[in-house]
Amino acid sequence: MDVTIFGSGYVGLVTGVCLAEVGNNVLCIDIDPKKIDLLNSGGVPIYEPGLDEMIQSNREAGRLRFSTDAKAGVEHGLFQFIAVGTPPDEDGSADLQYVLAVARTIAEHMDEYRILVDKSTVPVGTADKVSDTVREVLASRGHELEFDVVSNPEFLKEGAAIDDFMRPDRIVVGTDNPRTAELLRALYAPFNRSHDRLMLMDVRSAELTKYAANAMLATKISFMNELSNIADAVGADIEKVRVGIGSDPRIGYQFIYPGCGYGGSCFPKDVRALEHTARALGYEAALLQAVEAVNFRQKEVLFSKIRDYFGGDLAGKTIAIWGLSFKPNTDDMREASSRVLMEALWDAGARVQAYDPVATEETQRLYGERADLTLAADALAALDGADALAVVTEWSQFRSPNFDAIRARLRTPVIFDGRNILDGPLARAAGLTYVSIGRATLM
Ligand code: NAD
Repeated sequence: MDVTIFGSGYVGLVTGVCLAEVGNNVLCIDIDPKKIDLLNSGGVPIYEPGLDEMIQSNREAGRLRFSTDAKAGVEHGLFQFIAVGTPPDEDGSADLQYVLAVARTIAEHMDEYRILVDKSTVPVGTADKVSDTVREVLASRGHELEFDVVSNPEFLKEGAAIDDFMRPDRIVVGTDNPRTAELLRALYAPFNRSHDRLMLMDVRSAELTKYAANAMLATKISFMNELSNIADAVGADIEKVRVGIGSDPRIGYQFIYPGCGYGGSCFPKDVRALEHTARALGYEAALLQAVEAVNFRQKEVLFSKIRDYFGGDLAGKTIAIWGLSFKPNTDDMREASSRVLMEALWDAGARVQAYDPVATEETQRLYGERADLTLAADALAALDGADALAVVTEWSQFRSPNFDAIRARLRTPVIFDGRNILDGPLARAAGLTYVSIGRATLM
């Protein structure tokens, strides 16, 4: 089938390459000419495991192309995917300007039936706005063409995006038109073979499902982080509590890890946007507000622990940071906990020596050259002359470090483990002070 994807970011690229992988003819459109030039010269603008290879093989097979030519994009695909950003507006609501701009572009150029498939995360009611926009533009052109707008939210996880798309837990399709539903079912059939995972529903329920999923996951994290602070206060070990509660199948072990807060391009903005949607309709979403507030506070926990350890004065200190991306296996630093920590350290007069396996370039792009930031070439190099180590992202390669080497390089032998991934007793046996999240008993 012929498919056009508007937006060649994390979601658009993964959607495009996976649809091409199963034999579709995919044209990816982006308004950023630098991104398209890079993709056309064999480069990939983001880090996502497996993506480079798949882009290359599908380009070589002629099934995947990149362009800035929106008109060609509209002419190409029966399916017109919208995978552009929906960043938060100042009041927390989702900014729909990019989604609606794509809707206008499609309407300006379409000459026959098109299915607009919304993959961006958008508030309930957006499909109606997209339909209204298309209808208005078509009317201004004197056209009355048939089209459909489908909500097809994306559930991929950065870092495991290809696998999530190729083997999805669910494919949510929101449409009231049975014929369109069948076309989407056919498009997704290669990803839906072992058993039916396509969930057909009305458009509004599909739009809300995406927010509900992210809000639930964020709630689990904030719940565990709240408990970790209580564990610190009462002298308990949150990791023992985690194991204890996860054994109940109604709770389960997934996604109940305490840490130094969630970040990324989705959870923070989606919790805020859902809360905003509710408020705009006169409902106060008290639980969502708390999830957000707890996370905000949790991102400051590592800094407080470091500041308290050094008696409230961090001026002139150098703190090594392992992990800058908001989670492992991505270079995405949107709303990353590392940023809150680095900025608080800088405000307190400290220097940062950081290492991340893939997010160094992104850090440079965000912060530029600054005297109080050194980006190290490897994890041990980040420790040289540092007063303490803070582990912020749970990259696998940080999990089993050589504690003797860490101790030899640090000026003060102390580790702050923001993800509870290190072996505390081993660290202490090597002569290090080990501070983690919610484990007062390990101090
Ligand atoms: P992104 O910022 O990585 O990519 C968006 C791309 O859209 C950019 O390359 C931008 O240049 C392009 N763009 C903007 N306006 C355009 C236009 N008019 N025509 C063509 N291209 C245009 O964003 P993302 O992370 O891929 O997220 C996209 C959407 O998917 C968001 O709504 C997000 O919430 C949702 N989502 C993201 C993830 C994730 O893990 N990143 C997962 C699920 C859902």
